[in-house]
Amino acid sequence: MNQFGFNFDNTYEKLPNHFYHKSGATHVDFPAVVAFNEKLAEHLGLNAEALQSDDGKKIFAGNEMPEGASGISQAYAGHQFGNLSMLGDGRAVLIGEQIAPDGDRYDIQLKGSGRTMFSRSGDGRAPIAPMLREYIISEAMHALDIPTTRSLAVLTTGEGVTREDTLPGGILTRVAESHLRVGTFEYAVRAEGEDNAKILADYAISRHYPELEPLPAEEKYLQFLNHVIDRQAALISKWMLVGFIHGVMNSDNMTISGETIDYGPCAFMDDYDPATVFSSIDINGRYAYQNQPGIGQWNLARFAETLLTLFSDDKDTAVSKAQDALSRFGKLYESHWLSGMREKLGIIEVSSDDEALITELLDMMAEAGSDYTQTFRLMSLGKVEETSVAETDGFKQWNEKWQQKLETQSSSVEDAYELMKSVNPAVIPRNHLVEKALNEAMHYGDYSHFTDLNAVLSRPFDDSHDAVYKNPPEETEVVHQTFCGT
Ligand code: AMP
Ligand code: MG
Repeated sequence: MNQFGFNFDNTYEKLPNHFYHKSGATHVDFPAVVAFNEKLAEHLGLNAEALQSDDGKKIFAGNEMPEGASGISQAYAGHQFGNLSMLGDGRAVLIGEQIAPDGDRYDIQLKGSGRTMFSRSGDGRAPIAPMLREYIISEAMHALDIPTTRSLAVLTTGEGVTREDTLPGGILTRVAESHLRVGTFEYAVRAEGEDNAKILADYAISRHYPELEPLPAEEKYLQFLNHVIDRQAALISKWMLVGFIHGVMNSDNMTISGETIDYGPCAFMDDYDPATVFSSIDINGRYAYQNQPGIGQWNLARFAETLLTLFSDDKDTAVSKAQDALSRFGKLYESHWLSGMREKLGIIEVSSDDEALITELLDMMAEAGSDYTQTFRLMSLGKVEETSVAETDGFKQWNEKWQQKLETQSSSVEDAYELMKSVNPAVIPRNHLVEKALNEAMHYGDYSHFTDLNAVLSRPFDDSHDAVYKNPPEETEVVHQTFCGT
């Protein structure tokens, strides 16, 4: 261990050389830390004070490597909007795997840290705004109990980054259970040959599914696929339940750990509309809100393809095993989603007509253009009459059915409302609030909005926040499009 509390064990480097390139970060002259996550530092066993000193800053800048650090960029491929490309960390360096006091292992990665062997024509840098955006949204997701990579720090580099305009540069320190992606397997098998599937699968199993290690090979790898399917079905249902739209569900942006990764043009929807798309580059709506479960399954099929040789020596048998596993995704997703939706409506006693009740409500919300988050929160507070859904035609009848359900189930109505309040957030990182915080920070160097917003979002189920954080945007404030900002 060193003065910063880094306690690295770098297992990724023990994989064959083609899985990564050794690379340091590119030096920056005037780094300044603008965001630091003390709670996360503590959880990781890091020394918050030392990290916020001048020496600590050098680490987040990539100017110096702490003792025990490694410095690699990882190779991966990915289906981007359906087409396979060779990618890799073109603007990120993994500095090490931190062993936290509880024994858990976390990748510590600098994102925006300069060119690597995978940069192609890119500059390896990132403008500050998208790094702050990732900080806000990833930490908000964590507070909403949604598996995600975390954000430890953001730093301004003091250098300009050339895009359409010249923008201030930034570096994010990202923390993940690992950066293994579906795309890492696609790279391994497609670029380096089928033998690599086993090497990488064994590595991923040891990091994320160690309980599978004792199984015989004919079960182990199939169970590995099944476990990743389970985690992704659970994850995507959680996105859907809070109205989160990832925006770039390329297979390189889907993790093996089941964490949400790569906050680009992602956004939470305001008005409920299943066809919502925010990303400026998603012209055909491939990654629209309602398409996310289907795309999740599509990416998992790409994942399964990379593992086929591990399922059986006979290709047809292998394919049929993979298909059986993949066919579970739909049911798993539906069941996670349905239990989540029951909770959102305070339904504790399961019955066969719940799904119809839920669908009817969502249809009315779509018709009324109701704010997704606020509608469920007001319902949780017993204020359904104040929602725009209450003005739709079928509402009265629907409400009677719902109330009757709450009153006749064995647990009390109070319990139902308590449950609802614990799952329906009062505040989410609304686009207009995020943009405002980023603009103030980037153009005026005023980080107070950013700091305040993070503090609010760390307590998502609290009604005591100022109305500006809870209310949907005014018509003039609505953000219709978001950008990758790479
Ligand atoms: P992302 O959109 O962040 O998922 O990145 C997709 C691919 O583009 C990855 O291989 C990134 O490393 C690469 N990339 C994104 N921005 C840059 C940049 N500024 N310089 C080099 N590579 C980049
Ligand atoms: Mg990515």
